[in-house]
Amino acid sequence: MVSKGKMKLTWILWFILWPTILWLSYNYYYVRIEDQLIDILLFALFMCIVAWFPLTINDNPVFFVNGISIAVFLTFGLFVEIILTQIAIVTVLAKTGVGKKDNYRYPLNMLMFSLVSVIGAGVYGQLGGNHQTILTQSEEQVWAIFGYAITIFIANQFFNKLIDKAFYKRKVKIFDEGLRWEFISSLLIIPVGFVLFVLYSEIGRAGIFYLGIPFVFISIILMLLYSYKEINRYLEKTGEIGHQLTNRMELSSVYNVFINEISDLLPIDYAYIYIVDDNKLKLEQFYDLENNTEASFSSLKRNEAFSGKVWATGKSLLYKRASDWATVKSRKIPSDTESVLSLPVEYGEDIIGVVTIESKQKKAFEKLHFQIMDILTNYLGVAVENAKNYELTKSQSERDGLTQLYNFRYMEKLLEDYCENLIENDSDESFSLLLLDIDHFKKVNDIYGHEAGNEILCQIAECLKSFVGDKGVIARYGGEEFVVFLPYSGLSESTRIAENIRTLIADTPFIVHKHIVNNTAPLKVAITTSIGISVFPIHCETPSELIRHADRAMYIGAKRKGRNRVAVYEDLKSS
Ligand code: GH3
Ligand code: MG
Ligand code: MG
Repeated sequence: MVSKGKMKLTWILWFILWPTILWLSYNYYYVRIEDQLIDILLFALFMCIVAWFPLTINDNPVFFVNGISIAVFLTFGLFVEIILTQIAIVTVLAKTGVGKKDNYRYPLNMLMFSLVSVIGAGVYGQLGGNHQTILTQSEEQVWAIFGYAITIFIANQFFNKLIDKAFYKRKVKIFDEGLRWEFISSLLIIPVGFVLFVLYSEIGRAGIFYLGIPFVFISIILMLLYSYKEINRYLEKTGEIGHQLTNRMELSSVYNVFINEISDLLPIDYAYIYIVDDNKLKLEQFYDLENNTEASFSSLKRNEAFSGKVWATGKSLLYKRASDWATVKSRKIPSDTESVLSLPVEYGEDIIGVVTIESKQKKAFEKLHFQIMDILTNYLGVAVENAKNYELTKSQSERDGLTQLYNFRYMEKLLEDYCENLIENDSDESFSLLLLDIDHFKKVNDIYGHEAGNEILCQIAECLKSFVGDKGVIARYGGEEFVVFLPYSGLSESTRIAENIRTLIADTPFIVHKHIVNNTAPLKVAITTSIGISVFPIHCETPSELIRHADRAMYIGAKRKGRNRVAVYEDLKSS
């Protein structure tokens, strides 16, 4: 992002330097032009037409007026060349949608191009170049023209890269796309510019027309060639992103990949992924190029902001400037947004979400961007549904349906992996397993009914979850038995935790609503538990042994000894 200070400095520099350059070039590099004003106007018009077909490579306009400007320079000298080039620059910037917010780009480019002109003219003078008619040209003159063209090319590249680096703080490569295109177009266009100069000095005004038409066509053809290459690049990248998206299993990584890739591909300042949830649009992912705002909201209603509209109508939106969407008022749209592209995410017939991208630049998104995003949001729809299904199946296969705790299968696998990892790393870490069985649960069922028993199981699960937190992992082992895995816990630590769990459950009144006792009011039920402990590696060598030993400790050490107590496997051996 360009700071306010830099913008101001650009204007100040321009205010001082630009008139100075004009004044100097007028006074020291002036070629008589009084009787050729109409021709100069024709040249200016011609340059503006050519400037109307620019390429924008990394935000820098590459345009083909340098072919004409070389003819203008050779015929009319530096002063006229600077003026006409500046008119062309203003045209190209206006065409590419530079507006109020980034208006510093006008003085920046004007200054840059006038410096390039001055340097070119300086080299031309040094090499002995002059501004007489073609008939008096010597070999020296040919070299001077050659030197001029090369200087303009190099100076142009130099300033472009300097601005990229110093002003925009971008990473700069010397031999990049911009250089390649400028080079190819210069090879084509500078000789044509030279012929224009010769023709003009030979046959006058008619020369401008004879060469003007092919010149404009060359510009258009180059522009088409570039956009063809761009389309190719976009399509290749789109295929790649699609592949990456459908490869992702987790939802969060689907969103991440999508946002990261599109923000690389398109000129995006803000991006949003919404997913339809509970009759609103839930914001799943937000992207801000400069990272200085957080989305201050988490959902949208139907018709709210851009995405709400797209959701309600099912139609995509493409706006090129703020005034185009002035009627869409919402505090949830960043105030510096200009261009907007918003598309529905579809799966089959349904709209399952909306993707919206925004840019602070005018005309940031073209039809091509729209088409690319259309393909990508289709991929996103499929990837989101896939990931949702995957996550659902995974959680169903890992979790117990009643309490939503992990099931025994998950716990067994976890213990195996954990043990394997410890052995592989030669670790001497101890960990423990608690096996908890509810006392006299059959009686609870008999008195209060099976449904009330279920309510109690769920409440015990909640109780365990909130007590253990992230210190361990809990699973429902079987009917009314639970397992608590405690990593990094030796005997004393796990005994303390088990004792706390036991007293917590014994002291908690469990409330049942769906009981079969004759009174319809909720009832309080007291519950106690017996807990067995076994510790790896002191009580066992394998995970299955660990579970077996905890079970034995629970049964022999706690149940048999009167219930509502904690027993350790070790104690059994000594007793
Ligand atoms: P103790 O463990 O103290 O020896 O007595 P207990 O009555 O708890 O005996 P046991 O562990 O053998 O019996 C388990 C009972 O738990 C059997 C069954 O009625 C009940 N149970 C098992 N799974 C469920 C369940 O999913 N829901 C309900 N409501 N009850 C269950
Ligand atoms: Mg049992
Ligand atoms: Mg029991």
